[in-house]
Amino acid sequence: MPNCKLPQCFLCGKIYRGNLEEGIIIRGYYICESCEEKIMKITVNDSYYYKVVDRFKETIWKDIVV
Ligand SMILES: [Zn+2]
Repeated sequence: MPNCKLPQCFLCGKIYRGNLEEGIIIRGYYICESCEEKIMKITVNDSYYYKVVDRFKETIWKDIVV
């Protein structure tokens, strides 16, 4: 994974512009404000939920486990 100075939202790819109010950073992974909002409201009935879970597995989980 490239070590980018301007992180992108790991869910939607939006570029982080240095304003933490626009999102959150979890273990070095940036999540933009709109994705953060989606995650907060998400339920297992939402198809987006599975996309998010998959992305977490692909990126963050891997980092934690390894
Ligand atoms: Zn996003």
